[in-house]
Amino acid sequence: MVDIRGVHKSFGRLEVLRGVDLQVAAGSVTVVLGPSGSGKSTLLRAVNHLEKLDRGHVSIDGELIGYRYSGGRLHERPEREVLRQRTHIGFVFQNFNLFPHLTVLENLVEAPVSALKRPRAEARAAALDLLDRVGLAGKADAYPRQLSGGQQQRVAIARALALKPKVLLFDEPTSALDPELVGEVLDVIRDLARSGTTMIVVTHEIGFAREVADTVVFMDGGVVVEQGPPGAVLDHPEHERTRAFLAKVL
Ligand code: ADP
Ligand code: MG
Repeated sequence: MVDIRGVHKSFGRLEVLRGVDLQVAAGSVTVVLGPSGSGKSTLLRAVNHLEKLDRGHVSIDGELIGYRYSGGRLHERPEREVLRQRTHIGFVFQNFNLFPHLTVLENLVEAPVSALKRPRAEARAAALDLLDRVGLAGKADAYPRQLSGGQQQRVAIARALALKPKVLLFDEPTSALDPELVGEVLDVIRDLARSGTTMIVVTHEIGFAREVADTVVFMDGGVVVEQGPPGAVLDHPEHERTRAFLAKVL
């Protein structure tokens, strides 16, 4: 479903991604671990074409993101095509990024109506189902500021799902939460995993990775140092850098 090949990205002289290759099968969960500054967020943003690549490419379900070939050369896609492509890629941020002036329900209805031209009544019905799924059926008319961080993040997940994305990207979805609120968000992500949603999750929650990931990826210095099933990478890491990182977070 997701094919990341030879991706390079620099900011000025800082080479943040130095040739990243990663394949994510449909219906599978990939957890990305790595120290701060290793390029995890930049990689997720590259998948979404929020960062332009210097080299390499990303395709989702066989479609090149942000670029296309014509006349044997790679061209950047026009903005409206990129926006259409992004509707297939759900993104859940550390800080929720809900629209503060919209109710919970309106947060979920906005994109399906404006980007996908779904009828409002249909989008509302789907949104109410999604709120139920994340345990927030009673909060449709609340504003984000009236909710706890855990509730806001569950709304953000429901909002991402409202576009029926092909893949969901999570960038440290529980890092901004008080410890007692982490579990309710991880429960929702765990349910999505069980229902076969294709996901890439950047997180430091090792227990979650062990339980939910099909593949654990360890990144350091802008490259994938190693990847494999959780039992291999977490319990029998091959690389010293992976061992050193795990020793710090476990
Ligand atoms: P991680 O998510 O693993 O902590 P990031 O992908 O956020 O790492 O960042 C990797 C490196 O790239 C860091 O050194 C960060 O400061 C730098 N960086 C990220 N985005 C930008 C940007 N827009 N401009 C300049 N440097 C950036
Ligand atoms: Mg980050």
